Amino acid sequence: MHISDYSESCRFKDCKHIDEPGCAVLEAINNNTLDRKVYESYLKLRKEAWHFSTSEHEKRKRGKSFSKILEEVKKRKSNF
Ligand SMILES: [Zn+2]
Repeated sequence: MHISDYSESCRFKDCKHIDEPGCAVLEAINNNTLDRKVYESYLKLRKEAWHFSTSEHEKRKRGKSFSKILEEVKKRKSNF
């Protein structure tokens, strides 16, 4: 059994499958139908993916603010 079998049957669309009450994945672990090791490796994988997406997001955010600073500098210069 793969974790996606449970995560897809989970009634929560944006479920993190960590502490949501009624989560299908957590239920499967409690019933021993899903291996805890599979679940843990899934969490680890998702954590890494999350880290990647946030760092990408941060990069974009920083890039945006940097261009905003440039714009402000240009404005100030034109006021002189
Ligand atoms: Zn869930």
